Amino acid sequence: MARKVRGVLSGFETYMDQKDTWAFRNAPALIDNPVAYFTAEYGFHETLPIAAGGLGILSGDHARSASDLGIGLVGISLFYREGYFQQSINGDNWQTEYYVPLHPDSLPLQPVLKPDGDRYVGEVEINLANVRFQAWKVHVGRCPIYLLDSNRPENEPLYRDLTLHVYGGDSSTRIMQEILLGMGGVHLLRDLGIRPSLYHMNEGHVAFLVLELIRERIAQGNSFKEAFSETRRQCVFTTHTPVEAGHDRFSPGLMKYAFQRVQPQITDSFDDLMALGRIDPGNQEESFCMTVLGLKASRSANAVSELHGRISRKMWRPLYPGKSEDDVPIGHITNGIHLVGWMKGPVRRFWSNKLGANWDKDINEPEFWQRVLDWEFVSDAELWALRYRLRRALIEFTRRRFMMKRMPRHNPHEFDRLLNPDALTIGFARRFATYKRAPLVFEDYDQIVRLVKNPDRPVQFIFSGKAHPADDEGKRRIQKIIHLSQHSELRGHLVFIENYDVHTARQMTSGCDVWLNTPRRPMEASGTSGQKIISNGGLNLSILDGWWREAYDGTNGFAIGEDSHPDSVEEQDRLDNINLCKVLSEEVLPCFYDRDDRGIPRRWIEKIRRSMATMLPKFTTWRMVQEYVQKYYLIDPEQH
Ligand SMILES: *Cc1c(COP(=O)(O)O)cnc(C)c1O
Repeated sequence: MARKVRGVLSGFETYMDQKDTWAFRNAPALIDNPVAYFTAEYGFHETLPIAAGGLGILSGDHARSASDLGIGLVGISLFYREGYFQQSINGDNWQTEYYVPLHPDSLPLQPVLKPDGDRYVGEVEINLANVRFQAWKVHVGRCPIYLLDSNRPENEPLYRDLTLHVYGGDSSTRIMQEILLGMGGVHLLRDLGIRPSLYHMNEGHVAFLVLELIRERIAQGNSFKEAFSETRRQCVFTTHTPVEAGHDRFSPGLMKYAFQRVQPQITDSFDDLMALGRIDPGNQEESFCMTVLGLKASRSANAVSELHGRISRKMWRPLYPGKSEDDVPIGHITNGIHLVGWMKGPVRRFWSNKLGANWDKDINEPEFWQRVLDWEFVSDAELWALRYRLRRALIEFTRRRFMMKRMPRHNPHEFDRLLNPDALTIGFARRFATYKRAPLVFEDYDQIVRLVKNPDRPVQFIFSGKAHPADDEGKRRIQKIIHLSQHSELRGHLVFIENYDVHTARQMTSGCDVWLNTPRRPMEASGTSGQKIISNGGLNLSILDGWWREAYDGTNGFAIGEDSHPDSVEEQDRLDNINLCKVLSEEVLPCFYDRDDRGIPRRWIEKIRRSMATMLPKFTTWRMVQEYVQKYYLIDPEQH
């Protein structure tokens, strides 16, 4: 064991000491003056559950790849001391929420200290109060991430609890959280002596950082106009969703209250402050939109897939009067994942057995994945054995989960037969937001029952995911799926795993053969979970939305429907369900169960090879972060 630990440590030290990084050659300017990446959530690992969903996981993977590339990047977010909620399903199959306190002492967090060794304490003005905050540092390889935490004894309870929960409370909690994150985050950077060359706003929640940058410059004697244009030259903005509720909006009354002490330091009048978050600055009725502030105050902006770029240009065109939709300055960079981070242990060992200790050196190069197409390098039998091992591990994980939950009342062997390690295993796991339409596949109940109950071609579904605590419709969908799993003919072919998190995501995205995604087009701005499955040899089955319509080429997975959609939502739901049943019965099942005399599905494995070779070099944060550097971090469009 000691030897193993020494090995890991020396590998880590080599990684940290590496000098000739991609950024050393391509972005040296960012090393002394880093990018400050502001985001409301970070998902690194299940032990630090402070992400609500894909946005947080993406931020985490962004940081991991920035470290791999050697990019100067400093992360700013909040330390939510009870994180995101834990999901429990009650006797009525209804989601209930509870919170578990996190203990910084037992997590990979270091308190930020002052030079004299005392705890650092910063301060930010919210409402009428001076709110104090401390900070925790997470080392993500070479990139430091700072998490602000208002849990200070000097604060009144209201302010102490600001950072209790991810996206917690009502809009007044949210505005205060966001002031702390945006304005407090800039204070922290100043106090630490970090001089960012650029501020990357990851979604609107963080956009108040702009107000702090303006305030600072005015305090130094600049006019508002100068301060605003200087600030704008240092900011870039990423929008992540076309869903209306994903864009924070605050009423004038709330804004007035929250900024009563700060506003006079920024603008002449309160209306001038409101104008920064309004599409029509003169409209007194309009609320303050964080995305509008982010877009107005950034030198460039992007969406997270090609289609999402198009939708965002349409959505935000009113902000750019006189411009046609195509000329709205919102580009796109398609999201990715941190590839090695999402490859499960057996997959990493598969490659290291073939390639030796430094197996992952070229993992982001297309040539690495071209080798998967070579039958002599990787045989069908080997790939199929790997897939069996991963599916089996997921099924055992699922059995253990069910056993743990029911232990006191049930016989421990009751779950020994839950799920079939040889059956085609289809996974669906993500937030239960309405547009993701989790139960769509069960809409045509009779047909799906007929499909899954064929004893020659068994099929099973594993579902998981959390509904937002206030989203009763999402909770009804969870309830419906659990009900089907217990009291319908799908019993034995369908399970719901409680409390989706990074750990469950890792099990599911490695063990499932097929990853199902049924968003209502074009609401899935990008999506990333389907990319995780590919790194482990699963196949993606999805509506042609977000990243998938850029990746799918007819040979490397399965598409539901066409690269278009009708205007009517009802019509779309109806068509998508028909197309889903069609692709399952005509493509997915026949391909998986077309076996040779050794029991190997040759056509299926060919698809796995195609899927890895065509997609793994592209849909990673290694490629994505390079694109951010080259198109956004190093280029000021107004200087070129
Ligand atoms: C990858 C991931 C997501 C994002 O899933 P999408 O299906 O792309 O929305 C959400 N939650 C967790 C825990 C993840 O690992």
